[in-house]
Amino acid sequence: MNEATNLPIAIVSAMHEELGALLAQMPDEQRITVGGRDFWVGHLQGQLIVAVLSRIGKVAAATTATVLLERFGARAIVFTGVAGGLAPDVRVGDVVVATRLLQHDLDASPIFPKYEVPLTGHARFAADTEISDALAAVAADVLSDPVTLLGEKVADDFALDAPRVHRGLLISGDRFVSTAAESEALRHALPDALAVEMEGAAVAQVCHDFGVPFAAVRTISDRADDAAHGDFTRFVSSVASRYSLALVSAWLAMLSQQ
Ligand code: SAH
Repeated sequence: MNEATNLPIAIVSAMHEELGALLAQMPDEQRITVGGRDFWVGHLQGQLIVAVLSRIGKVAAATTATVLLERFGARAIVFTGVAGGLAPDVRVGDVVVATRLLQHDLDASPIFPKYEVPLTGHARFAADTEISDALAAVAADVLSDPVTLLGEKVADDFALDAPRVHRGLLISGDRFVSTAAESEALRHALPDALAVEMEGAAVAQVCHDFGVPFAAVRTISDRADDAAHGDFTRFVSSVASRYSLALVSAWLAMLSQQ
């Protein structure tokens, strides 16, 4: 990551419920509205950051990423939010730190191989190793004691028992995957995919084009099956938003100590 500390690190979520706890911790924020989105510039744990809600979906996420890079000069982008678990052992309450990201609904075959972003030669975009390693380390620490972080009731309500950190492929597409049939089809097509969401791979593609480091960390909110919509909103605001704040804060504090 570029060490110029007068340039901000960008923290992005799709929805307010995912980033609410973090936004509440930014005391000296300044709001700048671009393209209908509010960009909050301020400090957290001694680091200059710009926090923004991209809104849902790949186009919304790509637009937001482009503004972060061009208008705010972001020196890295970290996406934090929720995702549906695909791999059998990726459970609600676990955290996935992406190593690579792919758009599962992109298919220009037979002209280009399925999933490949035309003219880039890539289907799987790599996340920045240094940031992802650091996020995985702080995630393990945050998850080691969910009861202290969330309170006994929330931990109990969502049966958060020994949540785990996973690292691997994260897939994105413009679909909320909410049937067992659809998640089974994705597991079949992409057996190494850990989780599915709707923004990460789009931001990874933009960051790749601009040569800026990117990382994604997602709390599993559902299993991308017929029960996926269940307690979704409550889970996001009472669990995922607090995981995001704890994770991002711990990571920024780590950077400030270096
Ligand atoms: N029911 C929600 C839908 C939000 S879309 C609502 O009405 O607000 C889901 C958001 O969470 C997206 O930003 C996506 O990135 C992520 N997500 C969580 N679970 C997902 C799943 N099963 N499939 C796709 N995206 C998912």
